[in-house]
Parts: sequence; C-alpha cells; structure tokens
Amino acid sequence: MKYFAAVLGFVSLLLAASYLLNPAAVERFFSPQFGTCQKCERPWNHVDHHITPLLGVDRVEPDVETGELVLWSSGMFPLCEVCWAELKTGEARLPYYRMTYDEWLLDAGSNFTWEEIRVSVLFEATGEIPDPIVLKQ
Ligand SMILES: [Zn+2]
Repeated sequence: MKYFAAVLGFVSLLLAASYLLNPAAVERFFSPQFGTCQKCERPWNHVDHHITPLLGVDRVEPDVETGELVLWSSGMFPLCEVCWAELKTGEARLPYYRMTYDEWLLDAGSNFTWEEIRVSVLFEATGEIPDPIVLKQ
C-alpha cells in the first residue's frame, strides 16, 4: 500500500510539473479525441474556437467522400479565440489557416479553394474584399 501511494504521489507530481511546463501537452494527453488550436495547440474542449465564415461558399456541391449533394454554408476554425485576437491581422493569421487547409488536403480533400479561404480571412480582419484578389494556390 505504501508503494502504491508513493507511485501515485510520484505520478501526480510528474503530471503537475508537466502541466506547469506545458499545459497544452497535458490537456492533449487527456483529450486525444479533440482537435487543437493550430497556434497554442490546446484542445477544443479547453479553449473556444474562433469561427471564420467562408465567403462565397454557400452552395450545393457533391461531398468529396460520399458524392452526395451538400449545402456548404460553412466556416473554419484553425485558431482559438485568444490566439485569433493576439494575431490581430489577417496576414498574421493566414499561416494557421493554411496549415488547416493543407491538413484537409492530406486527409479527405477540400470543397474549398485556398483563395476562398485566404480572401475570407483577410475580409474578416478588415471588412473589405482584398484588392487585387491574386490566386495563390
Ligand atoms: Zn490558441
């Protein structure tokens, strides 16, 4: 029994120290089923996600996996509210949206183009459609 208590104490101490050093890692360890913020890497059950509406994607298209027609009226959330606010500008946020977009492409594909996402991120930051719209794939 003493041995068990000692091991339990040691594990608790280890977890507490790990949490102080890297809270996101401990949160991820206990929440493996949740995705994470691309910047702080904290899981979605510990932080609020910031949804960016995607412009011009309210449309009916076949789903990339099932082929069924789906009404796409969507947004994406690569960042938590805290990280999104800290980054301040659309340009600073874009790399994190690109990371999520690239993950989509590697996973099941995407019904959205990078240009639609890029324009949506910049529009959300400024309220203006970026001019000129340049295709950057
Ligand atoms: Zn974050």
